[in-house]
Amino acid sequence: MVIRISSGATNEQIERVCKQIEAMGNVHVHKIIGENYTVLGIVGDTSSLDIQEVESLDYVEKVTRIQEPFKKANRMFKEQDSIIEVGNTTVGGELFSVMAGPCSVESEEQILEVARRVKAAGANILRGGAFKPRTSPYSFQGLEAEGLELLKLAKKETGLPIVSELMSPALIEKFVEDVDMIQVGARNMANFDLLKELGKTNTPILLKRGMSATIEEFLMSAEYIMAGGNQNVILCERGIRTFETFTRNTLDLSVVPVLKKLSHLPVIIDPSHATGKWWLVEPLAKAAMAVGADGLMIEVHNDPANAKCDGPQSLKPEKFDDLMASLKGMAGIFGKKL
Ligand code: PEP
Ligand code: MN
Repeated sequence: MVIRISSGATNEQIERVCKQIEAMGNVHVHKIIGENYTVLGIVGDTSSLDIQEVESLDYVEKVTRIQEPFKKANRMFKEQDSIIEVGNTTVGGELFSVMAGPCSVESEEQILEVARRVKAAGANILRGGAFKPRTSPYSFQGLEAEGLELLKLAKKETGLPIVSELMSPALIEKFVEDVDMIQVGARNMANFDLLKELGKTNTPILLKRGMSATIEEFLMSAEYIMAGGNQNVILCERGIRTFETFTRNTLDLSVVPVLKKLSHLPVIIDPSHATGKWWLVEPLAKAAMAVGADGLMIEVHNDPANAKCDGPQSLKPEKFDDLMASLKGMAGIFGKKL
């Protein structure tokens, strides 16, 4: 962190600023006295400093951060890629993970049928929403606890670990018991109370990027979970809000190499929610593998036309088979196993 001190500050005043900053965190201050300005170089654990607190000190004119404010998620402090254990499988590293299943669990027949099909096609994790964050309170809200029971049944039947979205901190204990990975949806990425509580568990967390979140905000949400003690975080890009209306969101593929550079956490892409259209899922899933993603989250439904949620973006099982075949063909080129 570099701080420019207001011209005209006396030595005594500058000394006081140095002491105030050193008292704020585990840092040392180096003074550089120039002809026109005095500059303070702050070294040490600058992530322990609150930039706004520093900015509000008397005689501080400008603060420039050199190091990112996230630490546990930062590649600088852990060079090797993290590989997260999820039930009987892993996410990150050489394996290209595919989490597939319906937007929502709708019935026993539906989830079992989809689970069998995605397993046969090569998916390694089953997804399914039980508690749904719907834009309208009048839309289907999910089967809730019954949905989790049906997911567990599908897991028993296929052996696939399960991921499902949690919205309320009140249900954390139940989710820790019932699922192999807890999904934090885009709408809850900045629900810091929820993130803090999830930090106290050991369950893998699939953290989706908020629809208007910057990369730094996204990584700071991961940091909340990790700072609490849970290092098992997987990042998921699912499209961001832009002026474009043709697609449901705009898939930010550049985020993959950026996140990989900044962080050691696995990064997956959700082309279903990013595009909102089933026929865009395959090209963008392939692109995700090409830019270095660690996997995908894909919505698959046995009867998309009658799905209770997100039918237009859901692949039929046959289309999912084709996609998996293409991805298997590509994997070797990109150093991945599928
Ligand atoms: C979902 O995965 O079902 C979902 C609601 O996703 P998002 O939070 O990305 O909208
Ligand atoms: Mn959905």
